[in-house]
Amino acid sequence: MTKKILILPGDGIGPEIINQAEKILAYLIDEQALDLEFEHGLIGGSAVDAEGVPLPDSSLARARESAAVLLGAVGGPKWEQIDRPLRPERGLLAIRAGLDLFANLRPAVLFPQLASASTLKADVVNNLDIMIVRELTGGIYFGQPRGIKKLDDGQRQGFNTLVYSENEIKRIARIAFEVASKRQGRVCSVDKANVLEATELWREVISELAKDYPDVELQHMYVDNAAMQLVREPKQFDVIVTTNMFGDILSDLASMLTGSIGMLPSASLASDGKGMYEPIHGSAPDIAGQDIANPLATILSLSMLLRYSLSENVIADKIDNAVNQVLTDGLRTKDIHADGMTCVGTNEMGDAVVTALSNQF
Ligand code: NAD
Repeated sequence: MTKKILILPGDGIGPEIINQAEKILAYLIDEQALDLEFEHGLIGGSAVDAEGVPLPDSSLARARESAAVLLGAVGGPKWEQIDRPLRPERGLLAIRAGLDLFANLRPAVLFPQLASASTLKADVVNNLDIMIVRELTGGIYFGQPRGIKKLDDGQRQGFNTLVYSENEIKRIARIAFEVASKRQGRVCSVDKANVLEATELWREVISELAKDYPDVELQHMYVDNAAMQLVREPKQFDVIVTTNMFGDILSDLASMLTGSIGMLPSASLASDGKGMYEPIHGSAPDIAGQDIANPLATILSLSMLLRYSLSENVIADKIDNAVNQVLTDGLRTKDIHADGMTCVGTNEMGDAVVTALSNQF
């Protein structure tokens, strides 16, 4: 049966960067007989405008029927003042929870052609290849109670709850151990066990589970030290596994080690193999509609989708090679542009990747 992909362009630069990934999909379906079809759905601010909610039921239902979801990005100043439950980002949280996408895989890989784009010295980041495995459906972003209340003395108090159960910790840790066993075999679990009981349990459960993976070396690190080590000596890490909020922050930090937030894809996986794939960056409203956004993170997200949810490893490799080729050819969007390189727009970059891809068949 033909597999279906749901595409959710979202807001800001979302539609522009998704267009480039669609060109690749269209090429693969039309010219290479890839047995796949795709359709579009609404999420984020554009869904609020059209249907009054950031994740319409129809989008979630179609996501559930699809083999995988490709997402652009959501959010923007237009929706920052609306009621909290209607904000675009709530759509993202809702689809992650609705599909039970509990594992977020965020590679931080430095393309050697972009070593000079990093703010760190080339010898610190050369050949950097870290995988951050972030827990995505639990922790403080979802814990109840949460809110802002009025205290007796009239001032307001904001509160959130950090909560992790053993099963939530085990299932994300398993993903990290399994990913590490296919890489360099090292997991660093990041927590704040010296202060937060929820992560004291996190540390205990992961240490226990490590016995099932004798070939993987486990290390624990406090989050403040991990932030420091990522900047000081990032190549010491292979796989990092951490909580929702720590992973959110550390993966953005790791992304900048590679030079541009516009280069990094991510996968969010459920236990049944279904996944949602998206660039790690946001909707970049400051550059939306200008044809200057970097589409490569989205194109690499499509490659991850084909690899992890559809087992099309050969095609995924070809897409990765095509991205490598355009960088080797000196093509750069504005965010990664450097002297002597050719500055291209979003569309031109997308077209160049399609050409580089077609040269491999
Ligand atoms: P952002 O990632 O959108 O932008 C940060 C900076 O990086 C901006 O200067 C932007 O121009 C640049 N940038 C981002 N993607 C780029 C690309 N592909 N090419 C070139 N430059 C790029 O983060 P932000 O500005 O903090 O947030 C903007 C909006 O996006 C907010 O509404 C936020 O809530 C939302 N957001 C959404 C997601 C998501 O959809 N997954 C993630 C983060 C932020």
